[in-house]
Amino acid sequence: MNPSSNQIKILAGVFSLVTAGLLAVLKLWVGVSQGSLALLASALDSGLDFLTSSVNLYALHQAARPADSEHRYGYGKAEAIAGLFQSLLVAVSGGWILFHAARHFLKPKAEIPEISSLYVMLVSLVLTTFLVLYQRSVIRKTGSLLVSADHLHYVSDLLGNLLVLLSVALAMQTGWDWVDPLAGAVVSLYLLKGAWEIFKKSTDILMDRDLSHEYRDSILRVVKGRSPQVLGYHDLRTRSAGERRFLEFHLEMPKNLTLEESHKILDSILDELKEEFPYTEVLIHPDPVEVNRNGRTLLDREAPRFY
Ligand SMILES: [Zn+2]
Ligand SMILES: [Zn+2]
Repeated sequence: MNPSSNQIKILAGVFSLVTAGLLAVLKLWVGVSQGSLALLASALDSGLDFLTSSVNLYALHQAARPADSEHRYGYGKAEAIAGLFQSLLVAVSGGWILFHAARHFLKPKAEIPEISSLYVMLVSLVLTTFLVLYQRSVIRKTGSLLVSADHLHYVSDLLGNLLVLLSVALAMQTGWDWVDPLAGAVVSLYLLKGAWEIFKKSTDILMDRDLSHEYRDSILRVVKGRSPQVLGYHDLRTRSAGERRFLEFHLEMPKNLTLEESHKILDSILDELKEEFPYTEVLIHPDPVEVNRNGRTLLDREAPRFY
């Protein structure tokens, strides 16, 4: 596993933990001193963010552990487990916003927050913007599923805060009170869509969904480059454990090759695939093929299941 990519991911986890913690303390402090119920509720929200971000950080830390004798394929799936929970959380908050938007449509009322909570919201907006931008760069570098899930969560907070400010400003300027529920509905749909994508990616990893199509062309090219000794391949199987992926297939070779010769061919194919896919572990099982005038016969115990 690439150590620097793990460090970047964990740093992103620490960053979101610190942001949520700071915001929770700030909102609690101002909320208590001003006696603002809205701010106390918002402090509770940040407290929950702090909790989920600590779970995420723990999962990122777990996922970064190298393979050991108890987990010989590594700990990569920790990200997918946490991602699954995170997607459910985001879906619930998306559903909640949608429900509220629908209710406000039926009975619009512009809620004007107090000045103190507007200031706190502004601070939270700035801090969350920094966090979200930083997470974006981490996602671009590492493609981390869990950082994406955390990112979606904070984008939802950011959009939520922005919307409150925007709809308050609009309501004060124009008297339009339908802007708030409409914007809320749009944000909630965005959240539900994002939650669905993360849910799907997490379950794909947990369920070992096949990725063969990403490898097929390269395997064919590498395998064909070894001819005439390599006659074909079958039973290609792939799965992902987050960043680490696993690829295995059976290689068809003439039955009269020596063990040394076939091992050499296998190693050279392994080397070439490893170079092309640095995060993929490859396992090749050799199968003997009888070649004579009548054609080729695969000497395998079972017929191939996949190609
Ligand atoms: Zn086979
Ligand atoms: Zn070997």
